[in-house]
Amino acid sequence: MHTTRRSHLHKKDRKHATMTYILRLLLGSSPPSRQHCAHSLLWLAFLISAIGSEANAFVLGPTAPGNWGSGGGPITLTYSFMADGIDGTAEAGGITNTSLATLWGGTLPTWQTEIVRALDSWANASGLTFVQVADNGEAYDAAQTSGDLRFGAHNIDGANGTLAHGFYPPNNGNSIAGDVHFDTSEAWKIGFGGGGVDIFQVAAHEIGHAIGLNHTLVPNSLMNANYTEAFSGPQADEIAGAQSLYGSFVGPAPEPMTVTLSLIGLATVAMARRKARKNNKEETTA
Ligand code: CA
Repeated sequence: MHTTRRSHLHKKDRKHATMTYILRLLLGSSPPSRQHCAHSLLWLAFLISAIGSEANAFVLGPTAPGNWGSGGGPITLTYSFMADGIDGTAEAGGITNTSLATLWGGTLPTWQTEIVRALDSWANASGLTFVQVADNGEAYDAAQTSGDLRFGAHNIDGANGTLAHGFYPPNNGNSIAGDVHFDTSEAWKIGFGGGGVDIFQVAAHEIGHAIGLNHTLVPNSLMNANYTEAFSGPQADEIAGAQSLYGSFVGPAPEPMTVTLSLIGLATVAMARRKARKNNKEETTA
């Protein structure tokens, strides 16, 4: 089995989990043990201080090439929703996928709109385009899976702590690169305010990892390690990061036909208005 790289979004009330992440960022290796954390605290504090003073830009993920092969230009990626029961052994023993429809369908029936909004938040800020495909039901990280980004859920660490994790782009395992798993143990919600965690905000953060962004120390950024409702979706820092990987948003090029269509459209509107006036008159005088 290949080693895979993923990153998590945390709630602020679990400092150990956040510390674990910070160590991973600095060491560029697997999550350290608790003992390692304790022994590293003194020099870690120094490194955080040193890095923090220079942390004024996005951070790219640890994989190579670390993007989806677009060479810095626009690219179309596919995404899919994994079904219940998909084997998650490749990530850890005993994991079985819970579909997002099962996790949220009963209480948050518009969950899919939130995932699409999260994908759009990156597509509208960079050269990325996302297209939905049917998931082929293969196990996590199988040799052949459909959907560059596969969305699913399983228990990660119980309530709070890690909310979800996203796997960095290739080269990263067989096919698990780009996948996003939500923690089935969280109190999920749609929208800000009150308790719980918002599907859109967490999804947007994890998709950030899936397209190649690591956590940033820049304040008020979506790619900070901790969940926040201070703003919604990608901010300037991570948008710059996405554009460094996939270029700027490229809208459809204007074509001469547009003018013709517009003129036809205006003529149609004018005719409709004349008809409406006539109808109105007829109704008035009837
Ligand atoms: Ca959790």
